[in-house]
Amino acid sequence: MKIILSNIILLSLSASLFAQLTEREYDYIFFENSIMPEYYFYTSANYSGGSYVKNIRGKLPVCEKQFFTPPNSLELKFTNGDGNWEAVISFEKIRGADHFKRPNYLSFWILPADTKSDLYPEVALSIQKKGHRTTAIKEEKRSDKLFIGEYTGEIEKDGWKFVKIPLKDFGDFQGLPTDIIFSNSTNKGAGTILLDQVELLPDMPEQPIPAPQQITAKGYEQHVDVNWPPIENEHVKYIKIYRSKDDEHFEAIGIQRPWFNRFTDYTGEPGQTFYYRISYLDFQYNETSSSRHIKANTHLMNDEELLDMVQEASFRYYWEGAEPNSGLAREDIPGRKNMIATGASGFGIMAIIVGAERNYISREQAVRRLIKITGFLKSCDKYHGALSHFMDGTTGKAIPFFGSRDNGGDLVETSFLFQGLLAARPYFDKDNEEEKEIRNSITQLWESVEWNWYDQEKEGKFLTWHWSPDKGWIIDHKLIGWNETMITYILAIASPTHPIPAVMYYKGWASQEEKAVKYRKWGETDDGTFYTNGNYYHGIQLPVGVANGGPLFFVHYSYMGLDPHLITDQYTNYFENNKRIALINWRYCTENPNNHRGMSDSFWGITASDGPWGYRAPEPREEKDDGTLAPTGALASFPYTPEQSMAALKNMYRNHGKYLWGEYGFRDAVNLDENWCAKIFMGLNQAPATVMIENYRSGLIWKLFMQNEDILQGLKKLEKARQ
Ligand code: CA
Repeated sequence: MKIILSNIILLSLSASLFAQLTEREYDYIFFENSIMPEYYFYTSANYSGGSYVKNIRGKLPVCEKQFFTPPNSLELKFTNGDGNWEAVISFEKIRGADHFKRPNYLSFWILPADTKSDLYPEVALSIQKKGHRTTAIKEEKRSDKLFIGEYTGEIEKDGWKFVKIPLKDFGDFQGLPTDIIFSNSTNKGAGTILLDQVELLPDMPEQPIPAPQQITAKGYEQHVDVNWPPIENEHVKYIKIYRSKDDEHFEAIGIQRPWFNRFTDYTGEPGQTFYYRISYLDFQYNETSSSRHIKANTHLMNDEELLDMVQEASFRYYWEGAEPNSGLAREDIPGRKNMIATGASGFGIMAIIVGAERNYISREQAVRRLIKITGFLKSCDKYHGALSHFMDGTTGKAIPFFGSRDNGGDLVETSFLFQGLLAARPYFDKDNEEEKEIRNSITQLWESVEWNWYDQEKEGKFLTWHWSPDKGWIIDHKLIGWNETMITYILAIASPTHPIPAVMYYKGWASQEEKAVKYRKWGETDDGTFYTNGNYYHGIQLPVGVANGGPLFFVHYSYMGLDPHLITDQYTNYFENNKRIALINWRYCTENPNNHRGMSDSFWGITASDGPWGYRAPEPREEKDDGTLAPTGALASFPYTPEQSMAALKNMYRNHGKYLWGEYGFRDAVNLDENWCAKIFMGLNQAPATVMIENYRSGLIWKLFMQNEDILQGLKKLEKARQ
């Protein structure tokens, strides 16, 4: 028995190792460029006695005048006196970017200028465990210190110098460091060096790469998109982008990783002509010759054009950013290459419909994508018809990314997916084989979800969020509103094959029994714990919801297809309720009681997003607002707050676009108090902008979803279930 068991364990181990091998392996980069100007969030600096290291608010300054890779480098300006100084560069952890090439050296580029080599710093590797939201180090393992001057060789002339230190020289140090620590050498004096491309890398074989050929560029108002075809060559480390105003004098303005086929150049100059060319850098930073030159003009844009621009850019996350085998959405980009997220994929399907309707793609392209998506969904792992939160898009197997207990069905993610599929079913209404196949596949998938299985106690009260094939109901998270999960109850009631009783809406989602009241204490107030609320927040009465309405995604995720105008229960109408929640959020940000930098009546929208301390769901209350703003908050609220959302769109693009605007529209979030901006785009946050702006403009996705006879019948049942 034991032998058999260990064989099974070995088999599953090797399966997971294999899965890991197929994931993208990232370079372990501590610094390439800072998205934000002035100083770099992922650093710290301190000094004692007569030693000093220049810092801004305890962080290393960013140098934009000189760099090895454009557009910036880090400045290390120091005095080695009595006492010591230390400058720490911390590794920025990105969700899902968790497979790395096994490194064997630390390397960086330095610009010594006039600093004598005997003043160069020492460097050490460190693994630090830090407290929650604090820089206090709980535990640290640190390597030997090495004098950089030993590794630079002779500095013969001005210019950037490559420094490469074998990891074995750091002594007995195991594991990937979380921090690189630069510190004073024992030689007294002052100096300045610039640092760039601080990374841990393996030796990579030199392999000549061909120069880039095709390149296109398109100008918008404040930015130009420079595009190239997907790059297959694995020896390309970066694409380097050059810009000119006269087609003669080019300056290097940025680098891009090869999983993007675009560079977004935010110039902030409408009405200008720009020229671009690109080259490739290999892993030794050898540069190929340039592509041909291409021209683009920027021009002022009106409101409609700005809306189109945001919708199309966010849509691209689900189009060109999709996992290629399944056609479905990744959790975040950059992040896991093969891992798809079920709910975000449902949102993406709605964005693809918008893309076809607004001619970002042809209808035929959308049809082909939906055939791929539905084909994949029919064959992937399912748990009583429900899908798991995360799957491997290459195999259809569940990925327990949030822990081993989360290895089965996730009913909420499933409902977000089916919101998208049910919007797609009436959209693809042509009488041809392909569109028929899409409709039939969606019907087959929809009718196979056993919504009533997820009524764990079979008492007709609460739906349960997760079910695991080997651990059962171990997570035991009941779905209790008010939150983002109304769509789950509506779909479960509307199912033509495995419905739950409509009374579960009132007995479960809107329950007023003790269990539900206790659950709602997640809001850490007594407001709204009986589902209904009735209090005033910033002068607005809130019929249903927690104090101040909670994070804005509550009024987005369930209502991208489900038209809240048509949802009225015995407590409120949900368009009205959602609008009030959006307005409370806007008024809170306008008042800005925590005095956060940037937060205002035109820079608002507190909702779940990435943040300086990881993914969180802040709320528009002083205790729950850390200054992080996510563009999706205001953008996906367009149907509720069109004027305030438009003001935010313009302000975010025109005044904060330099860091916030990127390849798939706005980056996930920004926190100006901390001088931090997300590197990533998130699958849950890009599509709501595209889809809800469309609902504001034309009502398209609402109209499509509400055409489903099953949904209409479900809403009738809900109406009858009123108490
Ligand atoms: Ca750089």
